[in-house]
Amino acid sequence: MADRSLRGMRIGANSMESEQGVEFAPRLQAQYDCPDGHTIILPFSTEADVPVVWECRCGKEALLRDASKPEAKPGKPARTHWDMLLERRTVSELEDLLAERLELLRAGKLRRSA
Ligand SMILES: [Zn+2]
Repeated sequence: MADRSLRGMRIGANSMESEQGVEFAPRLQAQYDCPDGHTIILPFSTEADVPVVWECRCGKEALLRDASKPEAKPGKPARTHWDMLLERRTVSELEDLLAERLELLRAGKLRRSA
């Protein structure tokens, strides 16, 4: 009796564990508005590129409703090395530095670092 109920517990515990082990990928719901008034809601992985246009069941192009993408982060323009440099120095500072360096170079005071 005691043995049997213990075994039953173990099976139950195991199935609980296997359910907990399943990880769901984060998802967002993309909502599309058809010009005919149809609404399409599609789940996308947050990793996925959500298409801006989806073909509606009536054959028309439904447009992605931006407000329904809470997970989507606003796109940041890519920063170039030049942008990063300008965050630390102004152009006039850079010009001064360049002039200073050129002066040293012309005077033969600059050596390449080994
Ligand atoms: Zn439609």
